Amino acid sequence: MERISNYINGHLKSPVGGSFLHVFNPSSGQIYAEVPASEPEDVENAVQAAQLAFPAWSNTSVQERHDILSKIAELIKERAATLAHAEAQDTGKPLNLAAQVDIPRAAANFDFFANAITQFSSEAHHGPHRNALNYTLRAPLGVVACISPWNLPLYLITWKIAPALAAGNTVVAKPSEVTPMTAFLLSQICIEAGLPPGVLNVIHGSGAVIGKTLNVHPLVKGISFTGSTRVGAEIAGITSPLFKKVSLEMGGKNPCLIFADCDYEKMLDKTIGSSFSNQGQICLCSSRILIERSLYDRFKEDFVKRAEALRVGPPMDDTSDIGAVISSEHLNKVLGYVALGQKEGGTLLCGGNQIHPPGYEKGWYIRPAVFENLASDCRTNQEEVFGPVVTLTPFETEEEALQLANDSSYGLSATVWTRDLSRAHRLSKSINVGIVWINTWLLRDLRTPFGGMKNSGMGREGGLEALRFFTEPKNVCIEY
Ligand code: NAD
Repeated sequence: MERISNYINGHLKSPVGGSFLHVFNPSSGQIYAEVPASEPEDVENAVQAAQLAFPAWSNTSVQERHDILSKIAELIKERAATLAHAEAQDTGKPLNLAAQVDIPRAAANFDFFANAITQFSSEAHHGPHRNALNYTLRAPLGVVACISPWNLPLYLITWKIAPALAAGNTVVAKPSEVTPMTAFLLSQICIEAGLPPGVLNVIHGSGAVIGKTLNVHPLVKGISFTGSTRVGAEIAGITSPLFKKVSLEMGGKNPCLIFADCDYEKMLDKTIGSSFSNQGQICLCSSRILIERSLYDRFKEDFVKRAEALRVGPPMDDTSDIGAVISSEHLNKVLGYVALGQKEGGTLLCGGNQIHPPGYEKGWYIRPAVFENLASDCRTNQEEVFGPVVTLTPFETEEEALQLANDSSYGLSATVWTRDLSRAHRLSKSINVGIVWINTWLLRDLRTPFGGMKNSGMGREGGLEALRFFTEPKNVCIEY
């Protein structure tokens, strides 16, 4: 059985208490690895190592940081096949998806911020007083914590680590204990790339245990968190009286607005992807599909047909469109929502049942579920399922579509399908979310601000926003 180590002060280490947690392979439902059950002392060691490394790392030149981050990106690309295999095994996602999306994006995150930091500059202000110049210095925060979830493990943890390091911070990273493998492989890559000891530390184990020390540690100056709204709220509550800089990327219940004038075939293709990619376990997945009444019956028939045709099966089988969901608890949660949808009066048009592919009978597989006839205010339409479950709701007018789209405590992303340019602009302005895709979905430009409003997030990641988050501005005023 594989045993994962923490990465502290440049070394791969077992946890001080010698305890480990099981890591499951979702495709088989079997334990396949062990991950450190780190204790407060391990967290303390990681924070101290990061603190010790901070003065030297924050004083490296931008070029040095660029070079070492680029080297890490290069090694991720070299190991892409191994990393993709590890990610598919750990998460249950199709290997093709890990190979085409997760791992290339992890490399791109390092490449992007290696370059972005060489272009990062701050403002200078002349006037309003004669003979006065103000300029802004930007200093790294110090030790920062990067906490990430299980759905896109390497993709999301590198999205935080790369800008934090590029800006000159040192990092204690906390990957999800459910999917720790690629963060462990990244630790090995960082050693090989020559990242100085302590600059990045990766600490594995229970979020509650590690969070207890990390969230309140006086040396941890910033926390970048991606995960559930529940844990995000807990972190916000604990850290606010400590005045830490905090960025929270949390849950979503994203609307997809489909108008009758859209490019139908493209919309249908993308909406199948936006609903069920990664087993519906992407924070940006569309889960509330709103369809203009005149298109409703046609869309419903075609969409259900396409959902039923999706092949649910083992991640390593390249004919699988959809793999296994992350855990037996999560499988039960999703099945619970399918039952709830029916109890709330919804009509289940397809799927929603567990299946047992031959040879993988104990894995956690569920067929994509499509509901209709559910009111906007019911729990199925209000709560994040984070699985392959969507609802279809017809609307008559643009106003009604907007009202339904905004009828949510979440505000992460929205997708709008229309050829009417004015309508696209009107809705983009009025839907209360952080990201709007018009006639596409999850088309990402890493320079853009990424994040949500309402219960979906606080702060933004991406491009200069991330570099601003990981630095403290200081105003210098000179009268000459
Ligand atoms: P989670 O909140 O349970 O865990 C996220 C991370 O936080 C894990 O590493 C966990 O160990 C750690 N953690 C748990 N308790 C903690 C605490 N008290 N203090 C500090 N850290 C703690 O989320 P999850 O189940 O891993 O991920 C699924 C959720 O993530 C979904 O709600 C999804 O929408 C969200 N998500 C959001 C985005 C986004 O960009 N907005 C992206 C991906 C996933």
